[in-house]
Amino acid sequence: MRTGIDVAEARSLVLAAAEPLPSETVTVIEGMGRVLATSVESTRTLPPADCSAMDGYAVRREDLRGATPGAPCELRVVYEVPAGGRGPRPLTRGEAARIFTGAPVPEGANSVVRQEDTEAAGDRVRIQVEPELREHVRDAGEDVRAGDEVLAPGTVLGPGHAGMLASLGRTWVSVHRRPRVAILSGGDELVDPDGDASGGRIVASNAYSLAAQAVEAGAVTSNLGIARDTPEDLERVLRAGLDADVLVSSAGVSVGDHDHVRPVLEKIGCRLVFWGVNMKPGYPIAFGRFEEGPGPLVFGLPGNPVSAMVTFDQFVRPLLLRMGGRRRIFRPVIKASLVEDLEKKAGRLHFVRVALTREGDRVLASSTGNQSSGVLRSMTLAQGLLIFPAETTEIRSGSEVDVQLLDPEFEARTEAP
Ligand code: AMP
Ligand code: MG
Repeated sequence: MRTGIDVAEARSLVLAAAEPLPSETVTVIEGMGRVLATSVESTRTLPPADCSAMDGYAVRREDLRGATPGAPCELRVVYEVPAGGRGPRPLTRGEAARIFTGAPVPEGANSVVRQEDTEAAGDRVRIQVEPELREHVRDAGEDVRAGDEVLAPGTVLGPGHAGMLASLGRTWVSVHRRPRVAILSGGDELVDPDGDASGGRIVASNAYSLAAQAVEAGAVTSNLGIARDTPEDLERVLRAGLDADVLVSSAGVSVGDHDHVRPVLEKIGCRLVFWGVNMKPGYPIAFGRFEEGPGPLVFGLPGNPVSAMVTFDQFVRPLLLRMGGRRRIFRPVIKASLVEDLEKKAGRLHFVRVALTREGDRVLASSTGNQSSGVLRSMTLAQGLLIFPAETTEIRSGSEVDVQLLDPEFEARTEAP
């Protein structure tokens, strides 16, 4: 087991332990936000034939030489092609067909004139322009050709993909399975949110924040409940989570007399890969795996609510995203300008919870206040995690800093652009 390692090394040890999960077939709508496991090839050409981009008249361009509003050319309207219809015969000299958007251009026609450039006159039409060749004609296959790879594996499915799949006649897709995450809370002082929180008891809020983080990362979660601070009870609850893909426990992973997570994990066959990462909040984090036989990847996160969330964000989140098939698994990092002085000791990387504001082309970062790992409020206010590097001891106001962006709404607008 490695101990006292840096964040980057811990992250790569975690990510080395996982691959994208196998695929399952779901409806296209259920697949939104999930990752395509196979490539999608088209069995269709779209549009299937040359078709009109406008409501108007299909014409033979050569019949309209020199047509202008002052000197229109008159053609005989010999039939109508509605969307979904077909011209009954080729157009010949002096003939036009009434045509609607999306309808196939009849044989013999080589252009479409917009209705706005015409004037109907009984069974004839006066055309006031000389169109370009194939004007307002959508080419067969201009969207998709049969045999094209339309969607590549790894695509994160969105609304455009849903429409494309539907137009290819596909309502089911193969996507990577969602990781299953089991969540355990450990501690004699803990109660469920609807329990009696008097007399020094503490709500096991981590079960909620961590489940919410897991869901945001595309997982399905189960709550294993609260384990008491005995090795026996902890083992009982841990065993209930062994069929998950990832088991996340919080608390009891430090060096106190009641911290049984590490020995119990080893007892049930989980090999610890590391314990202790040089970061704050969250030094006492353990990561382990079952190497002989099946079993979940296991995280023993610290109990303090902010430490639990920040360590989840740094290590569990990218792992879950990778398991779900995603390739972009890390938070965007933006440059921001610090608006206060920060100081710390050398040795551990600090993730400072910051609120962000945009000022012209700069982003300003200010601490959310009390940075204690028990102050969950710092996570409700934070839009980013400022990276205060391990060996840096002070950052002065006005300095440029790196911030992991937590809040996807940060650049969204309340006013129309
Ligand atoms: P421990 O790691 O067991 O020393 O716990 C550190 C702190 O986190 C203690 O104040 C615990 O009460 C608190 N804590 C432990 N587990 C949870 C939890 N599931 N939800 C909220 N707070 C917790
Ligand atoms: Mg405890």
